[in-house]
Amino acid sequence: MSALRARKILQHISWCGWRTPTLSTVPHATTPFSSSAGQGCSFELTEQQKALQATARKFAQDEVVPVAALYDKTGKYPTPIIKRAWELGLMNVYIPKHLGGRGLGIFDTCIISEEIGYGCTGIQTAIIANVLGQVPLLLAGNEAQQKKYLGGSANEPLISAFCYTELGAGSDVAGLKTRAEKKGNEYIINGQKMWITNGGEAKWYCVMARTDPDPKAGKGKAFTLFIVDANTPGVQVGRKELNMGQRCSDTRGITFEDVRVPAENVLLGEGSGFKVSMDTFDYTRPAISAGAVGLAQRALDEATKYSLVRNTFGKPIAEHQAIAFLLAEMAMKVELARLACQRAAWEVDTGTRKTYYVSIAKAFTGDVAHEVASDAVLIFGGKGFNTEYPVEKLLRDAKIYQIYEGTAQIQRLIIAREHIGKYKV
Ligand SMILES: Cc1cc2nc3c(=O)[nH]c(=O)nc-3n(C[C@H](O)[C@H](O)[C@H](O)COP(=O)(O)OP(=O)(O)OC[C@H]3O[C@@H](n4cnc5c(N)ncnc54)[C@H](O)[C@@H]3O)c2cc1C
Repeated sequence: MSALRARKILQHISWCGWRTPTLSTVPHATTPFSSSAGQGCSFELTEQQKALQATARKFAQDEVVPVAALYDKTGKYPTPIIKRAWELGLMNVYIPKHLGGRGLGIFDTCIISEEIGYGCTGIQTAIIANVLGQVPLLLAGNEAQQKKYLGGSANEPLISAFCYTELGAGSDVAGLKTRAEKKGNEYIINGQKMWITNGGEAKWYCVMARTDPDPKAGKGKAFTLFIVDANTPGVQVGRKELNMGQRCSDTRGITFEDVRVPAENVLLGEGSGFKVSMDTFDYTRPAISAGAVGLAQRALDEATKYSLVRNTFGKPIAEHQAIAFLLAEMAMKVELARLACQRAAWEVDTGTRKTYYVSIAKAFTGDVAHEVASDAVLIFGGKGFNTEYPVEKLLRDAKIYQIYEGTAQIQRLIIAREHIGKYKV
């Protein structure tokens, strides 16, 4: 293969961007997000989305890629990088204009997430996982709650967290033990949450607690979401967990001991926690999936570049059919993962059939990130297993996409339910 041809292939692989419908804004009555997604089918980004992608890509290349390995080694929270992302208008972008935000859609959020994820998914998670704490307020918060907790995005990056999982229960909401008991005009929360992203950095938490003490109460009525200020007496922030990957992302246990929360901090109403949480995941999973796409694209790029310079048996390994076909498989997966993610984001922004496409995107992109990163390690040979080269980090970072925000198996349960449901009368 000539060097020129190899360079052309590489350029094509590196610069395949997001493509999206371009027609006029069609916000759906049930979605709080504005959108430039439209009708018909087009794979062209709008001019605004191209500019957003260019800004995010430049930020990732110039300011994330160079520091990713260091943040991975130290596990330090990437505060300066987050601040820079906010300065560039890449943070909390889905907060509506009437609350002082940019008023962008989930599709736009995905564009940013993929680009930053390309640079480092630890940093991407620290930035993007804020959707989890903030979307419940956008979907179910009243005016006062939205103004108080989401109104400051023009002044500083808003860091918040979603406290749902506990050590004893993640996938199975019925097992959640955190309790909130009403006393007068406030609730007293007791319980322990685990694996909370941004747990030590958040200014406030969105906390899922059981408000109906009857163990037989259905999950659709037994749980309530509360906004809890992080500095409320009784909130105890645990140690930063040392995880396999995405090490600069802040994951902690949070304990609530007799934490008094005013009734005005209930989201939507007592008993609505499960519904709001499930709705939230439909909005947040595409942005998380986009991070997985960014990681997979990075793994493909690194592996392709390496395969063009590593010679064995007298030629670049890219010219051995086994490696060329492996790269082809990786490219197919990355392209399809991106499409799945785009479709899910488009569904969310247009308020149509969300859950099915969102879970397909979440399951598929998570698996693809893991498979493509693993293949990249293989293509690097012995170097792939070594921390001096970029791909072992990608493999460690990729694993979490099959676990958090609903595991790979839970997504399949949802897809099967949605799919089979279509055939039932
Ligand atoms: C780094 C990190 C960050 C996280 N961030 C957050 C956060 O910000 N907020 C938050 O609330 N949580 C967070 N989590 C928690 C995460 O969402 C949960 O770990 C995840 O949902 C799985 O729950 P679990 O750990 O209790 O596993 P379990 O639910 O115990 O599942 C264990 C295994 O069994 C499988 N399984 C369970 N039920 C079924 C079933 N019915 N059918 C088939 N298979 C099944 C699962 O897929 C999994 O493989 C985070 C976790 C990590 C590691």
